Amino acid sequence: MSDSDAFRGEIRAWLEANCPPEMREPVRTDADVCWGGREVKFKNEAQRQWLEACAAKGYTVPDWPREYGGAGMSAAEAKIWREEMARIGARPPLSSFGIWMLGPALLKFGTEEQKHHYLNQIARGEIRWCQGYSEPGSGSDLVSLQTFGEDKGDHWVVNGQKIWTSYADKADWIFCLVRTDKTNKYQGISFLLFDMKSPGVTTKPILLISGNSPFCETFFDNVKVPKDQIVGQLNRGWDVAKYLLGHEREMISGAGGGDRTAAIGAAMNRSAGGVDPILRAELAAFDVDALAYAAMGEKFMDEVKVGKGHPAQSNMMKYAGTELNKRRHELVMASGGSAALEWDSDASDGGSKARNWLRTKANSIEGGTSEVMLNVIAKRILELPGVS
Ligand SMILES: Cc1cc2nc3c(=O)[nH]c(=O)nc-3n(C[C@H](O)[C@H](O)[C@H](O)COP(=O)(O)OP(=O)(O)OC[C@H]3O[C@@H](n4cnc5c(N)ncnc54)[C@H](O)[C@@H]3O)c2cc1C
Repeated sequence: MSDSDAFRGEIRAWLEANCPPEMREPVRTDADVCWGGREVKFKNEAQRQWLEACAAKGYTVPDWPREYGGAGMSAAEAKIWREEMARIGARPPLSSFGIWMLGPALLKFGTEEQKHHYLNQIARGEIRWCQGYSEPGSGSDLVSLQTFGEDKGDHWVVNGQKIWTSYADKADWIFCLVRTDKTNKYQGISFLLFDMKSPGVTTKPILLISGNSPFCETFFDNVKVPKDQIVGQLNRGWDVAKYLLGHEREMISGAGGGDRTAAIGAAMNRSAGGVDPILRAELAAFDVDALAYAAMGEKFMDEVKVGKGHPAQSNMMKYAGTELNKRRHELVMASGGSAALEWDSDASDGGSKARNWLRTKANSIEGGTSEVMLNVIAKRILELPGVS
């Protein structure tokens, strides 16, 4: 038996013993997703147990070092972990902007003290984070951001406004881009961390047509931020921001595997009985593209882990992965018949197909739009002239 077989056996046995049956069901509603945080409300005891069992072993962040709350797995071991999770249909124990975005940035740019403090909290799901990047007028052109941090000696005083801050009203802390030098566009931004309960922070949920409010306007009015809550160097936060964006795009792309880019044709054929030949051909074409994307994603993730990825590769994966995911949900809707359009019924599984389909529309906007991704691919990968 090879080492990897033995490791797979270990993981399989641990999952069998520790993953509750309720956590092996597909995610259907927001309550099925565990975001952790100071005010965490577990849907049931199984969700709490699953998070605690994984956090105790470092399995919420399997490839982070052990001293920062991870399990210290190699890239190959983490892949086995993901495969074994997928095999039993296990839900992620924790969904977290800390895991997907801030953690990787802290691993690269944080001080030793920051790594020990924040990464362990993130791995245990104790603090829920939000991302303070976009501002009114600074989305794609993020570097034009105006929220200002004034130097007051041992702290900054932050004033300004962010927008589209996902779950800001539920988050405990924010990782936030703040201008600390008005004379230098790129080298005048700092990357600050602060508590959303700090005096002067307010959030205003943005009500969507669906009735949901997943994001907020976030206002800072003389918010005091201690100096040791900066990540990276003063005025060099753009380096941290870009590195974090690479991880955000990787996460949104689905390149790390999972449901988003899996083949769907066979399942659709089975669930819909007779599928018309044109739809069947579209499903088959999708499956070929999904498999090709999954192979490309695996190569990309391997290259990222050993630091060999092209810097703009996450833009390419983000573009391809999100367009594929949108196509996937178009096909799910087309195969689902009229029940797929029902908003809230047993037949439509609580409207999950329609809700998931609508949610994918945001994939090509969040974390950088498809148009902007195509510009970056044209300029930095294809080296085409004339793109600003
Ligand atoms: C679901 C969701 C969650 C989000 N969560 C967060 C969050 O938690 N925190 C946060 O900070 N932000 C968040 N955002 C904001 C997101 O990052 C921005 O929406 C995104 O960067 C685009 O910026 P914008 O909305 O200002 O659009 P704009 O930049 O105003 O773009 C408008 C249109 O113009 C096009 N465009 C702009 N510039 C160019 C160009 N140079 N070439 C060609 N076309 C161009 C764009 O592609 C787009 O179609 C979220 C967005 C969504 C949809």
